[in-house]
Amino acid sequence: DANNDDASADPGSLRTPIVAVLGHVDHGKTSLLDKIRGSAVSEGEAGAITQHIGATAVPLDTVSSMAGELVMADDFDLPGLLFIDTPGHHSFSTLRARGGALADIAVLVVDVNDGFQPQTKEALDILQRTGTPFVVAANKIDTTPGWNPNPKAPVQETYEAQTDRARQRLDENLYEIIGQLSDSGFSADLYWRVQNFQNNIGVVPISAMTGEGVPDLLAVLMGLSQRYMKEEMEIDLTGPGKGTVLEVKDEKGFGATLDVVLYDGTVEEGDRIVVGGVEGPIVTEVRALLRPRALSEIRTEAEFERLDSVQAASGVKLAAPDLDDAMAGAPVRVVRGRHLEKVIDEVEAELSEIEVDTEDE
Ligand code: GDP
Repeated sequence: DANNDDASADPGSLRTPIVAVLGHVDHGKTSLLDKIRGSAVSEGEAGAITQHIGATAVPLDTVSSMAGELVMADDFDLPGLLFIDTPGHHSFSTLRARGGALADIAVLVVDVNDGFQPQTKEALDILQRTGTPFVVAANKIDTTPGWNPNPKAPVQETYEAQTDRARQRLDENLYEIIGQLSDSGFSADLYWRVQNFQNNIGVVPISAMTGEGVPDLLAVLMGLSQRYMKEEMEIDLTGPGKGTVLEVKDEKGFGATLDVVLYDGTVEEGDRIVVGGVEGPIVTEVRALLRPRALSEIRTEAEFERLDSVQAASGVKLAAPDLDDAMAGAPVRVVRGRHLEKVIDEVEAELSEIEVDTEDE
């Protein structure tokens, strides 16, 4: 409801911010996602992360135990972070929602030795065009000559533990990146010097290999979301679901299915949905909501577990009849309690905004 004000906002109605990871090939996008997943799992608690379809959900408590003193769970009421697993700016640019980007916030990964490369610039252009807030992860700090790794340590701690010489070399590379951001029209600085993240881009030195600086990156993502995005995260969690199709895939026993990131409301088994298709909106009904089996479970032949309902923000596979013509990047909406014609109109309006990206992987 648009009339919600802060005083009446129910903290239970805040959804998880959706995070995308972008950057030039080989700069470390996949390694960063793997590190975050791996560290979360090694925190050992049950439910430390949930593997969704096309996304990984890291709950606030897990973010907090990974980030140590940098993220005190009591200071936050957002439920955590949902990382989209498909790195790359092609997928990012086709993943739209409500006319903007599907991701609420992005991490632009830049190899600290390699600096800006063509796809770094492309990613920046897309972030600017979609108005997506982002932080820069200056990755591979462990490759600085003379570097002494301190696995999983916050940046300042490991930085202070280095020799003057190593520190100086890292600084040179970091200021090069800050200069390149400035040449592209972004005022940027090392994240701990940034007062106002709306006017300045924070640069977080990290290593996706050793985990150094990853606590800081999580803290900045949580802090930015909480500070600047809380209002957008206030949704009616039980309302009719809205999502974006990541992929259309054939699955044995289900036929064509949709991998969807749900960014609003709920989708339930049996819900009538409208999906964007090649020939226009498809009206169908959800037969099954599927998610990969938990990491800890022994693989059985059933690859997926079935859910009764799924709440935003999350990644889920939808099985339904007549999905052969559904399109990646297209909207999905649950009809529940609304006029079908109105929902079809909404999907049509969104479809007309989508540029078909023929280069898409
Ligand atoms: P992507 O193409 O952006 O997804 O890059 P990858 O995550 O596949 O990384 C490319 C290569 O860089 C791989 O060989 C990684 O092991 C390596 N790499 C990524 N991050 C780091 C890092 O922080 N330190 C070091 N030393 N190597 C890294």
